[in-house]
Amino acid sequence: MKNYGYNGKIARINLSTEEITIEEPDWVFYRTYFGGRGIVAYYLLKELSPEVDPLSKDNKIIVAASVITGAPLPGFSRHSIGAKSPQTGLFGESEAGGYWGPDLKKAGFDALIVEGAADRPVYLFIRDGSIEIRSAENLWGLDTGETLDRIRNEVGDEKVRFLGIGKAGENLVRYAGVTSDLHHYHGRTGLGAVMGSKKLKAIAVRGTKKIEFYDEKKVKDLFKWFAENMKTNVDNLSQREFGTSAYYYNAQQAGLLPTRNFSTTWFDVKETVEEVHQKMKDHREGCFACTVQCKQAFKLEEPFSVDPRYGGPEFETFGSFNSICGVDDAKYVAKAHELCNRYGMDTISCGVTISWAMECFEKGLLTVEDTGGIKIEFGNGDVMLQLIELIADRKGIGDLLAEGSKTASEKIGRGSSEYAMQVKGLEFPMAEPRVKFGLGLAYAISPTGADHLQHEHDGAFDPQLTGYSHNPDDPYGMVKHLFPFGILSPVKALSIGWEKVRLVTYFQHFWSFFECIDTCIFTWAPVRTWRINHMPEIIEAVTGWETSLFEVMKVGERATTLTRCFNLKHGLSTDDDSLPKRMFEKLSEGPMKDVTMNEDEMKDAVKLYYGMMGWDENTGIPTRGKLAELNIPWAVNHLLPKKNE
Ligand code: SF4
Repeated sequence: MKNYGYNGKIARINLSTEEITIEEPDWVFYRTYFGGRGIVAYYLLKELSPEVDPLSKDNKIIVAASVITGAPLPGFSRHSIGAKSPQTGLFGESEAGGYWGPDLKKAGFDALIVEGAADRPVYLFIRDGSIEIRSAENLWGLDTGETLDRIRNEVGDEKVRFLGIGKAGENLVRYAGVTSDLHHYHGRTGLGAVMGSKKLKAIAVRGTKKIEFYDEKKVKDLFKWFAENMKTNVDNLSQREFGTSAYYYNAQQAGLLPTRNFSTTWFDVKETVEEVHQKMKDHREGCFACTVQCKQAFKLEEPFSVDPRYGGPEFETFGSFNSICGVDDAKYVAKAHELCNRYGMDTISCGVTISWAMECFEKGLLTVEDTGGIKIEFGNGDVMLQLIELIADRKGIGDLLAEGSKTASEKIGRGSSEYAMQVKGLEFPMAEPRVKFGLGLAYAISPTGADHLQHEHDGAFDPQLTGYSHNPDDPYGMVKHLFPFGILSPVKALSIGWEKVRLVTYFQHFWSFFECIDTCIFTWAPVRTWRINHMPEIIEAVTGWETSLFEVMKVGERATTLTRCFNLKHGLSTDDDSLPKRMFEKLSEGPMKDVTMNEDEMKDAVKLYYGMMGWDENTGIPTRGKLAELNIPWAVNHLLPKKNE
């Protein structure tokens, strides 16, 4: 059978032995896992034993695009990186858009498995079917931007695409990330530290081969449909103008903004999104073949410089370095964002870990004796920037904060764990669970820890809620876009009964498929332009596989279940599927004053979710029947014997 849309080639690169082999799985493998998270979970579950230290040579990095990546369709530019996470000790994975994934495909590969560790700094250079391991001794210690420039110069090609780490990854900061061409980012779960531990500075790629699609005309028609319909999509138009930063200001007005280490959801903001963009926006850019072009780059000269080649902050970064740290000044966000991308650090975990330190300092759990004399106070933007530098260098108090809030709080004790806002070791993103209970459940059960790419915001399913782009004359609002799932009624935002759990479960299947097919949530229903039934149409046009929404949902569920098996194998227990106590305290101010999420209801929702997933309601272990139904009966061999009784 001819491979349309993909190459049928996965490269295995051993950095210890410098051996490179090419594996050629059959079409059934590709159709079972599709790419991205599916491929990452397959290899990590099969090949990593539970004893593997995430920062040892025995960990493996899987980089995977999908069978669609590189098709000229909005949203299909992404690729995934996965490994055992140094932040959670569990399944780690993170996706990014841009151009790197399409170039990997055009270079003749669908995925890479990187194993072992080099004895000196190296980078990989992949060009049209060839893979070289090159010395990076002259690149070690450089910022990501300078590394990119030097590699392009060395290989003599300005069009080379780049994945790389900065000094945070080299210094094994547990939430170090991987940048792609400097403004697309694999932020979460510490994958930059895994690259650093292998002395792998970068993976550069250049591909010029044409990818063949099954139905070229249909692909073009789908592109035109999106481009035309995007013009009336409120959220895609707003993103084109402001990126996701407008959501920060919307959330502020609605009282939904996580503030001062999640101690409240009310934060007074003095500037508007228009004013902030007027002052700092330099230009707009985007990802391969996407008509939204939503990435905004910021520039500043005074009081400090901000380099626009590192892009600009999105909603998550605004929250992580403004409201969460109590700093009401967007120039500090712009600088913090630039530093994190320059050094290669996740802005969410960095900001939330700093805000944990700020709260500990306020409560006397950290003192100037611990901090080397620095007063780590909420609202102090200059101290926030100073801490980012110390963390990336692992100097002074930065060495403790480089561990992330969970490990840092366990190290200092003094009751500080109460203020570590994380699940499974991954810090909370900026979507506020106390007013979005479905997202709260999603954070609790996500395989990667508190990860916002598990579920749509609850307000999208509640047409009576203001602040969302619902049509006031339409009783179903965005819910009508979910009718193909069989979700036929709106679900209240502030609820966590069985209807919400069903919604989260279905959404997790669909969004897990997004991570297998490596597509961008900012292009999809219910909020944005693509409709749900476009997914099988797109797959058929690109690959020639006649498929259905049923198969799509099963692929997503299969990937989630594989991650569950990986996590159980590596020590997860049901206690880990929970939220910090603070999440169940009553909100004390702002428009959401007195709203409370009930802890017992949330615990019950977790059990109900296990049941809907075909996992044992008490142990959270997938049943043999579910594994067989998902066509992964082999996964049962990877569950710990005691958990399989
Ligand atoms: S919507 Fe924005 S982030 Fe998503 S693919 Fe398009 S340009 Fe990239």
